[in-house]
Formats: sequence, C-alpha cells, structure tokens
Amino acid sequence: MHSSPLTPPRNSKVMKTKFLTQNEINGTTLAQAGKILQGGGLVVFPTETVYGLGANALDASAAEKIYAAKGRPSDNPLIVHIASPADANKYAFVGEEFKKIAEAFMPGPITVIMPKRDCIPSAVTGGLDSVGIRCPENAIARSLIAAAGVPIAAPSANISGKPSPTSALHVKGDLDGKVDMIIDGGDCTFGLESTIVKIENGTVTLLRPGAITLDMLRELFDEVLVAEAVTNKLKDDERPLSPGMKYRHYAPTAPLYLLSGTNARRIEYCMAADSDTLLLVYDEEAGLFPNHKIITLGSLNDEVSQAKRLFAALREADSTDCKKILAPMPLQRGIALALYNRMIRAAAHNIIELS
Ligand code: AMP
Ligand code: MG
Repeated sequence: MHSSPLTPPRNSKVMKTKFLTQNEINGTTLAQAGKILQGGGLVVFPTETVYGLGANALDASAAEKIYAAKGRPSDNPLIVHIASPADANKYAFVGEEFKKIAEAFMPGPITVIMPKRDCIPSAVTGGLDSVGIRCPENAIARSLIAAAGVPIAAPSANISGKPSPTSALHVKGDLDGKVDMIIDGGDCTFGLESTIVKIENGTVTLLRPGAITLDMLRELFDEVLVAEAVTNKLKDDERPLSPGMKYRHYAPTAPLYLLSGTNARRIEYCMAADSDTLLLVYDEEAGLFPNHKIITLGSLNDEVSQAKRLFAALREADSTDCKKILAPMPLQRGIALALYNRMIRAAAHNIIELS
C-alpha cells in the first residue's frame, strides 16, 4: 500500500471523459463501459444511493487510480460491488449472517463487511483483511457489473471531503477530465450512501446508517451493535471500525451549526440571524425568511425527501458567499439516523442547544 496516507487529487485535466447521457445508455454503450473497466479504466455510474467511481476490484493498479482521482486517503477502503449476492463467496468468507442480510435486503442499499479472500488486493481494502460487499439495485449499475464481468470497487464519485454526488452534474463538476466515462442515470433515488454493517465472529455491528435502518436489521438479528462513530465524535487517538468515519466529510466552506430544539425555537433563532447567515430550512418554512438566503432541505415530515436533498443542499451552500450556515438537527432514529450521521460530520459536531 502507499506510504503516504493522503493521495493528492489530480488537479489538471489529464484525459477526455466520455459523458454518456441517459438517452445513450443501451447494451452497446454499457458493453463499452464494461470494456473500459476490464482494461483498468475508471467509470462513474449511478446507484440507488449515490454515484460510484468504479474500477476493476481484482486489479490493484486500477483501484489505485480511484484514490488518485478522488484524492482519497489510501487507508480508506473501497466497497466492492457485485451483480448477485451469490457472488459474494468468491471475494469474502461468507457466513449465515450475510445470507440472512442478502435474502432480506439484496439487491439494495446495504454493504456487508466480511473477511476478504486473497483475490481482492489490499489496495482495494485500504490494507485491511476485510472487504465491504454490496449488491446494488439500480438497473444501470447491475448491467454495468454484468458487462464488466468483474466485481467493481467503487467509493462515492466525489473529490474526497466533498458531499457525495447524487446527480451526474455533481460528478462532472468534481471528476471531469479525471475518469474515462461518466454514465448519467438521473438523480439517485435514495441520495445517502449505503448502510454498512460489519460481521465478525457472528457479531453484527452497524458502522454507517442508511436506507436499511437499525430497526430493520434488528428484525433479523437478536443483537445489532452500533459503532461509536455513528453518533458520537471520536477522540483524537480513537480508531473507528470504519476508516472513512475519521475523515473530514461533507463539510461546506462556511462553518455549519446544527440547531437542536423544537421547530418553533429553531425558526425563532433563524429569524434573528444575520443576513450573511445561510439558513437550511424545510420546504414548508421557505416563506418565513424573506430577508435571508435560504436553501431548502425537503419536506418537514418526509425524511426520505430530506435524504434525497441533503448532499445537493450542501453543495448549493458552497456556491453562496455566506459566512455561517444554520440547519436543523435530525432525530436519531429510523432513516433520520442516516441524516443525523451525515449532518454531524458536515457540522464538525458543532451543535447549538436551544432551550
Ligand atoms: P464510500 O464508498 O465513499 O461511501 O466509502 C466507503 C465506506 O466504507 C468508508 O467509510 C469505509 O471506511 C467503509 N469501508 C469499506 N470497506 C471497509 C472495511 N473493510 N472495513 C471497514 N470499513 C470499510
Ligand atoms: Mg464517500
């Protein structure tokens, strides 16, 4: 593995990126994309969670190109995408727990971490002896994996540290000139990255919350542990179970503060904010702040619409010249736990308690 933990992003356009529009997606063009992957190239593709930056997961040098294109620290492992849960056993040591999860939720927005087999290079797993396996539901992703004929290693298709991309335009802004092809599959249906669980000696631990919720997992298993980093800030010397949890993530340029308290108190607090403070508010609240810059976060009681909006809203925040950003603090249950987990990272754990 690389000696330096941080791989600098390629900052100049070094290649011509083929942009495949939604109308151009067919068997022939997906076969071309598959060929690029087989030849060690990089293809960005849509999934139901966020866009993925893919390379052949069996080819160490192809995987290393992903780290270079994103500027991703080399100890932050990649998720391996497969066409069918039955393939998992080729790349990982699969037990009963995986079979249960696969039967209940695959294909779908969940990644399972298991001991890896030797065919998966350590360049893919950030030097770890475990591998994250995911079987996406998105039809384009599935056809691409089938066309490639190899598993696809893919992290989110953003420059490291930025919000994950939920549209092909986000990807273009970050990776044009750094990848061989971008496939436009429209807006991602869920909009937050996959749920990640780790299986170790029969114990199931939630490492990252997502569309498959803790409650759904607890219906399958008597016990599901929750990694500390899901909801809490780690101490400087603490090692997270999922290396990605330790890195600065999603943070907009201006400092973001989460407001914890009732909606009425939050609205009152936002109304009193300076005019150079950007307010992230729910759709229904948009009319309440005629003197402020606002960005909407989806509908108040619809956490699915909030999940779909969050990363686009954080990217839009960066296109304003605000000095500070205020946003509501999501609840810590159901799908909102995934929102909470991403928001506390974007806010660097800055929470304002409103009494
Ligand atoms: P991304 O695909 O960019 O959403 O990032 C993948 C996430 O999965 C990162 O947070 C990684 O730390 C985590 N991950 C992938 N493989 C492993 C593994 N073998 N062990 C622990 N975490 C993993
Ligand atoms: Mg990511």
